[in-house]
Amino acid sequence: MSAGQIARPGAASASLSFMVAAPPFLREGAPDPACFGQDPNLFFPSDYGLRNWEQIDAARDECIGCPLQPVCLEWALENPGLDGVWAGTTPPERRLIRRERKRLMGNKAA
Ligand code: SF4
Repeated sequence: MSAGQIARPGAASASLSFMVAAPPFLREGAPDPACFGQDPNLFFPSDYGLRNWEQIDAARDECIGCPLQPVCLEWALENPGLDGVWAGTTPPERRLIRRERKRLMGNKAA
C-alpha cells in the first residue's frame, strides 16, 4: 500500500493497493462489502450538493443492506478527513452526526 492514497469504497479487498490502510472492516474473514466490485467513483461525487444527489443516492443504495454498514459508519465517523460516501453518509452528514453525538455526550456528562 502506498502513502497518500485513501481508502475507497468499492475498491474493497480485491484492490487493497488503493488504500493507505484498509478499513478494519475489510479484514480477512469479514463478509464482502456491498460495494465490492462497484466503480469507486460512484462513491466520490465532485461535491455533495444537489446537482450530485442522484449519484449520492445511487451510492447510498449500495450501502443499504450491506452487512458491514454499522462498522463502516463507525470507521468513517472516526476518520473526520475521509472523503466519499461511506455507510450511506456524506462527509457533511457525518459532521452532523459527530456534532450531535458530542452534544448528546455533553448533556449526559452534565
Ligand atoms: S456500507 Fe457502503 S461504503 Fe461501507 S462497506 Fe458497505 S457498501 Fe461499502
